[in-house]
Amino acid sequence: MKNKHSIYPNLFTELDLGFTKLRNRVIMGSMHLGLEEAKDGFTKMTAFYRERAEGGVGLIVTGGIAPNRRGMGAPKFARMNNKRTAEKHKMITQSVHDAGGKIAMQILHTGRYAYHPFSVAPSALKAPINPFKPSAMSERKIFKTIADFATSAVLAREAGYDGVEIMGSEGYLINEFIAPRTNKRTDNWGGSYENRMQFPLEVVKAARAKTGDDFIIIFRLSMLDLVQKGSEWQEIVQLAQELEKAGVTIINTGIGWHEARIPTIATSVPRAAFTWVTEKMREHVSIPLVATNRINTPEVAEKILANGQADLISMARPFLADPYFLTKAKDNRSDEINTCIACNQACLDHIFERKQVTCLVNPRACYETELNYLPTKKKKKIAVIGAGPAGITFATIANQRGHEVALFEKEDKIGGQLNLASQIAGKEEFKEMLRYFQKSVTDSTITLHLNTEVTIEDLHTGKYDEIILASGVVPRVPQIEGIENPKVLTYLDVLKNKVPVGKKVAIIGAGGIGFDIATYLSEKSGSLSLDEDRWAKRWGIDKEYKARGGLEKATPESSPRQITMLQRKKKKMGAGLGKTTGWIHRFELKSRKVKMLINVNYERISDQGLHIEIDDKKQIIEADNIILCSGQLSNDSLFNALKNKGLSVHKIGGADLAVELDAKRAIAQSARLAAEI
Ligand code: FAD
Ligand code: NAP
Ligand code: SF4
Repeated sequence: MKNKHSIYPNLFTELDLGFTKLRNRVIMGSMHLGLEEAKDGFTKMTAFYRERAEGGVGLIVTGGIAPNRRGMGAPKFARMNNKRTAEKHKMITQSVHDAGGKIAMQILHTGRYAYHPFSVAPSALKAPINPFKPSAMSERKIFKTIADFATSAVLAREAGYDGVEIMGSEGYLINEFIAPRTNKRTDNWGGSYENRMQFPLEVVKAARAKTGDDFIIIFRLSMLDLVQKGSEWQEIVQLAQELEKAGVTIINTGIGWHEARIPTIATSVPRAAFTWVTEKMREHVSIPLVATNRINTPEVAEKILANGQADLISMARPFLADPYFLTKAKDNRSDEINTCIACNQACLDHIFERKQVTCLVNPRACYETELNYLPTKKKKKIAVIGAGPAGITFATIANQRGHEVALFEKEDKIGGQLNLASQIAGKEEFKEMLRYFQKSVTDSTITLHLNTEVTIEDLHTGKYDEIILASGVVPRVPQIEGIENPKVLTYLDVLKNKVPVGKKVAIIGAGGIGFDIATYLSEKSGSLSLDEDRWAKRWGIDKEYKARGGLEKATPESSPRQITMLQRKKKKMGAGLGKTTGWIHRFELKSRKVKMLINVNYERISDQGLHIEIDDKKQIIEADNIILCSGQLSNDSLFNALKNKGLSVHKIGGADLAVELDAKRAIAQSARLAAEI
């Protein structure tokens, strides 16, 4: 039934699957949390999934669980292969059901992406992103693997799951059988398309036969491989139709293999950039289709459904960022949603760093049993100096717990450096963080003092019980002869003071900010992330789907400036950027012909430009402007003075430590202090 009273009527419409109903059109997409293998993992996952069910998600899909040992993503990854394990999962399914939700377990066989030496694949071809070479599956192993998928599905049912999602995309085992890129077999499982698609069909048929008709089977179908020798559109349609006949309940959209050199979920990907693929499939099948990738607001989700592009919306990371996303949307409070900015910094990057997943904007994600903002037993008067992410996070949580908080900011707006980050093309999502912070402060009882630079004289002994120094950082100015030359600017001059920048630019320092400044100055005509067609052309995505994989020749855009980036270190430029996004920044800047010089010794700056030496060879980088992105120093000069007055002072964010500072650390540290104080 359509919920006519909601401003998102399509989003909050039930979906009748015949044997069961979903309460709305939202699926929480599968995410490996790192809790699957953790100590107390089941207790933590139970709390994590229960909160998302309480928040109103229609159907939750768990992180991928392997059907057998060879399918595990890495040694010790979770498997569903016996009744003892199924028993453990019951606490998760029970708590989701108690909260009125439904949950499906994803069955993921990682094939040649498995990070261990006993991986298998249709053919013995190493993936370009994995050092381990798989062995080719024997026919006996193929039948055994199909049986293992079915056993996993049955065990999931016994564990109380409402269904399973069979992972058939992103370049994992099933996808490897489907695509000629990875299936070079000459037996019944390779060659013609009929042969290549047998494996997914047999998996589905076996799972359906064993689980019965009243069990949800979602198939995650790769509708756009984005790799050479991927599937053709006609093949994908044929498979979708066969999957429907084989008993699949819902088809979820998979976009891009992990080895594809096209971004698919990074923040620079335009919102809902791949919905056209799901829409294209709609006329070919009659079972519900799910749209995915870079959908992070209820407005975007509603529009997709209203336009008839899909039957369901899958959002994954947005539920790390805010478990109550749907409750807020339903109550017409979407401006209170803590929006996922698609940075990957605390979720996907953590998986690749073998760390537990959490969220940059919500450090409680996956820490639901450990980090809670409970009412204080002792109300305190607290002054917070600085309204960047650290200061605001601290202020809003401490205030929510019952403390009386005064927040001081020297600028005329809150947000600190986020106001700079959000100006970079491809980082527009940071504006959502600013909106969320602004709304949180407005809705609180915090006394906000803008345009107020706190000095030592302002803070008298006895006025506040605690003082929180969240005054951030200042740019580091390196000691180079001629640094006072007027052509030298800092990143603040460029982004905040809007000092005009010439055609020839040298950037000293190539950390996150150096890369962002290079992106900002090399952008030709507005952000690509706000123009889906231009973005698709730039990366070579063919919406007409003429070739296999949906690829065409990419058309990179040129830079209006001649830019040289420099660093002293010998290692690859951008090595410290995010694991899952750093390559995109490097790739983009290289395609704009930005020069990257490493192992640089800075000699001096003159009217001509920057004089450097590399490997004993001197050279001059002619430049109209030299921009300093050479790191930052803590702006903590008030700390000792306040301490000396006998005040109780705490430092957070950049004021505490400038080295390797980012918003993730600033927010997490501030939330933890605010939860305890
Ligand atoms: P700040 O954000 O610097 O805030 C400090 C605040 O204190 C400021 O508003 C300042 O005006 C105020 N203040 C200072 N002194 C006083 C005083 N005496 N009285 C009153 N107010 C005072 N991080 C990421 O995680 N991911 C990214 O992609 C990312 N991109 C970035 C891109 C750019 C271009 C920049 C510049 C930064 C980026 N960062 C990113 C870094 C991130 O923004 C910072 O790590 C974060 O803002 C630090 O938070 P903070 O609250 O400690 O400090
Ligand atoms: P950074 O990552 O520490 O980089 C500083 C750069 O300056 C390095 O390239 C360093 O390289 C150089 N440098 C350091 N001292 C120098 C000196 N004395 N003289 C000349 N060069 C010097 O810091 P940042 O770029 O200022 O970024 C600040 C923080 O914001 C980062 O820690 C980052 O996490 C965060 N941020 C993140 C993103 C993101 O996309 N995730 C984007 C922007 C910012 P050499 O020492 O080799 O010369
Ligand atoms: Fe989204 Fe970033 Fe949080 Fe991941 S860490 S869920 S990408 S906001």
